Amino acid sequence: QAAAGAGSESCAPPVCVLVLGMAGSGKTTLVQRLTAHLHSQNSPPYVVNLDPAVRELPFAANIDIRDTVKYKEVMKQYGLGPNGGIVTSLNLFATRFDQVMKFIEKRQNTSQYVLIDTPGQIEVFTWSASGTIITEALASTFPSVVVYVMDTSRSTNPITFMSNMLYACSILYKTKLPFILAMNKTDIIDHSFAVEWMQDFEIFQDALNQETTYVSNLTRSMSLVLDEFYSSLKVVGVSAVLGTGLDEFFVKVSEAVDEYEREY
Ligand code: GDP
Ligand code: MG
Repeated sequence: QAAAGAGSESCAPPVCVLVLGMAGSGKTTLVQRLTAHLHSQNSPPYVVNLDPAVRELPFAANIDIRDTVKYKEVMKQYGLGPNGGIVTSLNLFATRFDQVMKFIEKRQNTSQYVLIDTPGQIEVFTWSASGTIITEALASTFPSVVVYVMDTSRSTNPITFMSNMLYACSILYKTKLPFILAMNKTDIIDHSFAVEWMQDFEIFQDALNQETTYVSNLTRSMSLVLDEFYSSLKVVGVSAVLGTGLDEFFVKVSEAVDEYEREY
């Protein structure tokens, strides 16, 4: 399968797509779907799994952290619980990430995209030294984008939505990379309500007025602050299960990379 479809004779480096998001948002399912989509376009991606604790991967990874680090054994050996086991496994893997980079570099001319699935719990990656090391190694070598996957069906409450956006915003600041918000699970609910909230402050306020909790005042002020974040944000609605929105997804990825390269 490796060299097939490698037809793209372009010498442009592959684009690294780093998939982040809360546990259960659909990262792994999205990586699976993106992989299938690219295969069908005769442009097989290079796929990396960084989740040491995933039981079954629905896609064939070119590099799988589980081949190098056995998370259950790490737990036993270091006397750790599940979270410590995941963090330590990622640390152990990060120390050998230069080897991973060599593998990816070898595939430079055959893959247009490198897709990276990250651990279920987002903070394991975004708030750990190893996550930072891995992100920086990738981003300093290849054009890279961060895809923040949001569970749209779980963000229909304006306050929950706002919390999710604040989290997304913090990741943008942490990684300082081109950023795409993938509103996933649009087969359950269309993402237009969320897009409206981001485009029209008053519609969001109206939704908030239905809320009487004490945080709603804070949320009101926050939404003004986030306006700036929203205005430059690339948003795409997808369904990882149905595979909808993927063409638009890749358009946004290209735009994000182009804009970033023009600016920096
Ligand atoms: P991860 O923890 O972010 O990797 O999330 P998974 O990819 O493992 O998905 C978590 C759950 O959400 C699984 O039960 C998936 O089947 C489900 N899921 C993922 N994407 C979608 C989607 O687009 N639509 C629906 N309805 N369910 C989804
Ligand atoms: Mg996953």
